[in-house]
Amino acid sequence: MEQSTLTGSCLCDGVRYTVRGEPQRFYHCHCSRCRKATGTGHASNLFVRGTLGWDSGQELIQSYKLPEAARFTNTFCRRCGSRLPRFNEQTGTVFIPAGSLDVEPPMRPQARLFSGSRAAWSCTAHSVPEFDEYAS
Ligand SMILES: [Zn+2]
Ligand SMILES: [Zn+2]
Repeated sequence: MEQSTLTGSCLCDGVRYTVRGEPQRFYHCHCSRCRKATGTGHASNLFVRGTLGWDSGQELIQSYKLPEAARFTNTFCRRCGSRLPRFNEQTGTVFIPAGSLDVEPPMRPQARLFSGSRAAWSCTAHSVPEFDEYAS
């Protein structure tokens, strides 16, 4: 896939970032760790081979590495709690929580991961009616 420049921010707008590189994968992940970290049925994770730059708010960034996990780290804004991207030095890949993006990602989710761990109430594709905004 082509090179992209992706910008995003947290809920309080204190932290802003720019990711440059080649988008590789885009997955919904239903694993229990992603559920806890997001507080919802699944995480939507975009992976880009490239670089991550912080444009503002670097002092607000906090990371929590799950002790028993090989590679699960939750990076978030200390002020508002929003999840933020993380650069993995071993793979040269940036993980982006897709909801933090301020631009349209260049690809659509390709798969749902850990569907065996899916909470019974969590959505699958086209399994529930959709509303543009609030349910009427
Ligand atoms: Zn914030
Ligand atoms: Zn997960």
